[in-house]
Amino acid sequence: MSNTNRPDTNLPEPKEFARRIRAHALQMVHAANASHIGGCLSMADILAVLYTRILRVDPNNARAPGRDRFVLSKGHATAILYAALAECGFFPVDELKTYCKDGSILTGHVSHAVPGVEVSTGSLGHGLPIAIGMAIAARAEGRGSRVFCLLSDGECDEGSTWEGILFAPHHGLANLCAIVDFNKIQSFGSVAEVLNLEPFADKWRAFGWHVEEVDGHDGTDLERALSAAPVASGRPVVTIAHTVKGKGVSFMENRLEWHYRAPSAEQLAAALAEVGA
Ligand SMILES: [Mg+2]
Repeated sequence: MSNTNRPDTNLPEPKEFARRIRAHALQMVHAANASHIGGCLSMADILAVLYTRILRVDPNNARAPGRDRFVLSKGHATAILYAALAECGFFPVDELKTYCKDGSILTGHVSHAVPGVEVSTGSLGHGLPIAIGMAIAARAEGRGSRVFCLLSDGECDEGSTWEGILFAPHHGLANLCAIVDFNKIQSFGSVAEVLNLEPFADKWRAFGWHVEEVDGHDGTDLERALSAAPVASGRPVVTIAHTVKGKGVSFMENRLEWHYRAPSAEQLAAALAEVGA
């Protein structure tokens, strides 16, 4: 099977795409009285670059064998992923209103019932091992697919994640790209307090990865790191994206409580104004 080339799309620039999905996620989390808006906002710019610039996926042929794969390992940050998939045309944007409602496929943790989703996630530390299996399969079948896996920093406390980090370079999985949404806050506190990861980049390097460290809100920086160029190194690539939890809404930025809280109607209005919705 030949590669799926990235289809022509009418998608906007990453910055505009990120603005739209931030606005959707805020509205969805408010309407559903749901959690995880902070971790959605921190990864908005990463998803925007992936879906508008990097991933070779086609909403009109969502299961094309040669497509790139994207695994959202931090499967609790689901509102913003669904928003991105809807904006790409995998399903109607209007359906986002059903988020977390009875009978909706748009569940509070990522579900593979949703068009464009490869695998259900939410049990932390599973995404990277699954992505590694996909990368091995792609290579065995001679497909040119790349496999991208977005992890939270909190997930880097999981032993299964570190097994994956050990395993992928041993098998020379140059078609694998891990991305860490390094927003420095996890569910119960700062990463530094709960379980310090530093020296984080050095640890990935020591395990044999090609490491890119970027500003996770800079589209140009992200696009360079996530493009195919580093694959030539013959090693898996990790992009450590330095991000801000709650990015784009001043009263949510770097605040632990927005891991869980849903904005009130008043807070939603203020947040939407800040993201330019
Ligand atoms: Mg985090």
